[in-house]
Amino acid sequence: MRQDVIIFGPPGAGKGTQGALLAERFGLLRLSTGDVLRDAVQHGTPLGLEARRFMNAGELVPDAVILGIVGDHLRGPAATRGVIFDGFPRTLAQAQSLDGLLAQLGRTLGAVLVLEVDDETLVRRLSGRRSCPSCGALYNVYLKPPREDGRCDVCGADLGQRPDDAADTVRRRLEVYHEQTQPLLAYYESRQAPLRRVNGDRAVEAVQRELVGLMQS
Ligand code: AMP
Repeated sequence: MRQDVIIFGPPGAGKGTQGALLAERFGLLRLSTGDVLRDAVQHGTPLGLEARRFMNAGELVPDAVILGIVGDHLRGPAATRGVIFDGFPRTLAQAQSLDGLLAQLGRTLGAVLVLEVDDETLVRRLSGRRSCPSCGALYNVYLKPPREDGRCDVCGADLGQRPDDAADTVRRRLEVYHEQTQPLLAYYESRQAPLRRVNGDRAVEAVQRELVGLMQS
């Protein structure tokens, strides 16, 4: 599939999980700007050093930085493949720049898939989220706790928490979503982009089934 897709929604809505499944199923390249930034932070690159303070405070990284990442991907690894954008665009300026970039590169936006989840559920999902730094297994202290507190069921390593999943930062991330990102839905509606809303507060498989159906419709 050469069409590009945006998976849209608040932090914790399941964009990463659902986006990865869709990417595999449809042979798309998943571009998570959050993953690119976290990787840069971990490796201590100049990008990571710049992005880190914004991320840890739950604020958005400046548009110019994000657009640099996306432009590089679209001209590089994604030049011949459809992309699923996860966590991008997050501001009006990013959405407008994406439109320009896609037009310039002769690409089309096939769908904007919106995962809807209420704030209370998001807070529990995000502040409870833990992951294994060794094997990548995911847990949630409220919803899917490990058998032994703080330890990975699969490999026994100590579980970690994303710094921006701390309770205060989660609240700020949700505010930022409502203030700066949610208004993009009206933008895409006004552009008559194919916007599809899905209830994200269901089992992973049920949400995925619906998304796959929408991608094929
Ligand atoms: P995510 O993993 O998508 O929740 O992103 C984690 C953090 O990375 C966000 O809270 C922002 O600080 C930053 N980030 C990721 N994508 C973007 C974006 N498109 N625009 C601005 N900041 C971003």
